[in-house]
Amino acid sequence: MTRLTRADLDALPAYVPGRNVADLARELGIAEAVKLASNEVPFGPLPGVAEAIAEAVTQSHRYPDMGVLALRAKLAERLGVDPGRIVTGGGSVALAEHLAKATCLPGDEILYSWRSFEAYPIIATGVGASSIRVPNTPEHGHDLRAMADAVTDRTRLAIVCNPNNPTGTSVRRDELDRFLDAVPDDTLVVLDEAYREFVTDDEVPDGLATYGDRPNVVILRTLSKAWGLAGLRVGYLVAQPAVAAAIRKVLTPFSTSMVAQAAALAALDAEPEVVRRCAVVIAERDRVTAELRKLGADVPTSQANFVWLPLADRSAAFAAACEKRGVIVRPFQGDGVRVTIGTPEENDTFLEAAGEAL
Ligand code: PMP
Repeated sequence: MTRLTRADLDALPAYVPGRNVADLARELGIAEAVKLASNEVPFGPLPGVAEAIAEAVTQSHRYPDMGVLALRAKLAERLGVDPGRIVTGGGSVALAEHLAKATCLPGDEILYSWRSFEAYPIIATGVGASSIRVPNTPEHGHDLRAMADAVTDRTRLAIVCNPNNPTGTSVRRDELDRFLDAVPDDTLVVLDEAYREFVTDDEVPDGLATYGDRPNVVILRTLSKAWGLAGLRVGYLVAQPAVAAAIRKVLTPFSTSMVAQAAALAALDAEPEVVRRCAVVIAERDRVTAELRKLGADVPTSQANFVWLPLADRSAAFAAACEKRGVIVRPFQGDGVRVTIGTPEENDTFLEAAGEAL
């Protein structure tokens, strides 16, 4: 048969989304499952967001502002950087793709820790780059020394996921300082901080405040998690102006939708509520971690809105057992299970299921 698409994609694992409440209703007849599989925050849209969306929708026959001027200005003010350094996109995962496109030619290398965010290998293959994966430490975090050693003259992008999805671990200032000093100036380092708002450890640096002035550092953030806009797809990056300009060249035109822009502006006005919600998630994260450890699970300390159970070959069975009890978690075959922190009631339901499943 004539081959119409790239042969190398056959070997690429597909992105596996967390299973949905509708999946459990269909397959197991469980009408009201608890979804703790996609690292969303469970409290609904922030105040003002639904109204902003309703208003924006009245103009949906028009294209959005391609320059995303109002949102970039608001982010710039909040972050204390020039708007020219900010690029928005359809989720930070889309921006990670654009970063790969803006830096890599076929045969170049993208370096990251593994296991980490499952989109990274897909993004690398998409641009014909080689994935260089450095295994996580036995404590499930990045091995930044080994990552620095793995940089070659073909490494165009090095990604540090901090905190790391799916293990929740984080890297601290001194090791990140050493890593960034070791990486050559012509390798772009991406600090993927999708979960920054949940960090409580003072030693885990805010990438923008600490490293934002380095010419080869890009900070990737999202409004999907703490800001409650996962369904609308809006993320942003902060880079040096020349890097930001190059990324803008490869952006899909108009990819931050009009509704996403309006919703993001409204969400950013609700920061006190975000702080309050994050505090609930953080307290629950620490409670769930302690309870799981009591059950004998070797849960690494998480700085994100999820926890990791390194259950190795028991992962799929654990997830299936949770589903039977109406709780959807996210297994990573042969490796572990990631459980998003939900409301206190949802977490109780999960802990009960986990108690039985473990
Ligand atoms: N980076 C990391 C580490 C993530 O876990 C995620 C979401 N799963 C993203 C980026 C992408 O988030 P979004 O595209 O919704 O902004």
